[in-house]
Amino acid sequence: MNFAKSAPIPAKLTSDMELKHRNTFGLDAIAEFAYDITSAEQLPALLKTLTEKKMAWRVLGGGSNALLPAQLPGATLLMNILGQEIVVVDGDGDGDSDSDSDSDSSNNGKHTLLAVGAGVNWHALVAWTLKHNLPGLENLALIPGTVGAAPIQNIGAYGVEVGQYIDSIDAFDTIDHVFVTLSQTACQFGYRDSLFKQHPDRFILTRVIFKIPEHWQARTHYAELAQQFSDPNSLPTAQQIFDAVCRIRCKKLPDPKVIGNAGSFFQNPLVTEDQHASLISQYPNLVSYPDKAGMRKLAAGWLIDQCGFKGQRVGAVGVYENQALVLVNHGGASAEDILNFAKSIQLKVHQQYGVQLAIEPNIF
Ligand code: FAD
Ligand code: NAP
Repeated sequence: MNFAKSAPIPAKLTSDMELKHRNTFGLDAIAEFAYDITSAEQLPALLKTLTEKKMAWRVLGGGSNALLPAQLPGATLLMNILGQEIVVVDGDGDGDSDSDSDSDSSNNGKHTLLAVGAGVNWHALVAWTLKHNLPGLENLALIPGTVGAAPIQNIGAYGVEVGQYIDSIDAFDTIDHVFVTLSQTACQFGYRDSLFKQHPDRFILTRVIFKIPEHWQARTHYAELAQQFSDPNSLPTAQQIFDAVCRIRCKKLPDPKVIGNAGSFFQNPLVTEDQHASLISQYPNLVSYPDKAGMRKLAAGWLIDQCGFKGQRVGAVGVYENQALVLVNHGGASAEDILNFAKSIQLKVHQQYGVQLAIEPNIF
């Protein structure tokens, strides 16, 4: 692991680095100065220099939730800190975790703590946990990107969010110039939201400590997953859920290696029960789900589909034919092209349903 406090080797610097292969939209982008961050200890000196020189900087993980401009002036910090280790086995529950499974009375509170470097590939980590008999993350299989970016928007899929499994996060605070450890509560995880999303660029996440409860329960309530496990007499294993999630996603989502995309381009909007009642009276087939008290979550993909965008294409940008929430780069698109197309979708959805769609990927 690269977490030891030895004298740091300065981050390797590459000028004019091509980032086409480090963003899943496949956009042409050049980083003026790209720093290969392989250890947390490289950050204090680097951030001090960047601050003194008043140089612009930003952090990039795998670029799977990113819209990059053609030129990235100043410093781009490529988060490549590796390493993962089990730090506590059979820890006792302290009762402060917010995880779903904690609410189950059969939970004995025992857990494993797993420390993982920010640059580790997310999907590889999920596969590794299953191999090491640490189930829990399987619904989040095949989400691209790095471990360090996962808490930023509190990645979620099939009814599970990463924040449920986070004990704490080690980060460099770029305002106070100190290392901090933030508890799960301090991270303020919400629906595709966190402290880090609310305060962009303040914290550079270096390591995530996961808390995997010993007690495990299958979560297969999303329709497409439920269809795979319809026999009530045969409960699926975590590995079977992992395999099913991978199968469903491969069928439904475009592979960024083949066609550029950043997953869902818009978040599912939340509306009040009153707004929902008014919408459903006009659109009886509206797809929505109950959310926090008094709110409903609308399926943004359904709204976009109903506006006729599914499979549409304007120049190099399009809406994916199997999933209207995903914008794709057919080749040669720029961030501006994608944003212009996104604006036309936002406008039409707003005109038709009175609902504002928020963009999910981070615009650099
Ligand atoms: P990047 O895109 O590199 O960065 C995202 C943001 O995090 C940026 O603001 C960046 O500055 C910041 N950041 C990255 N690393 C750090 C760090 N170490 N410290 C501080 N800030 C950092 N998301 C979901 O929630 N659920 C899904 O099911 C899902 N499916 C997807 C499917 C596909 C095909 C694709 C392409 C994307 C999908 N996504 C999904 C979105 C994306 O994969 C996740 O948001 C992922 O966590 C982004 O990781 P990344 O390393 O690529 O981050
Ligand atoms: P889906 O299953 O077709 O569902 C469409 C939408 O309805 C989803 O956005 C989902 O909300 C919501 N939904 C479905 N069943 C639900 C339930 N039982 N309870 C509450 N909400 C429900 O979605 P999909 O496009 O195939 O994606 C499957 C999962 O992968 C979803 O969780 C989705 O968020 C995730 N995913 C995310 C991205 C991304 O880039 N963010 C990309 C691909 C897939 P939620 O989004 O809140 O789950």
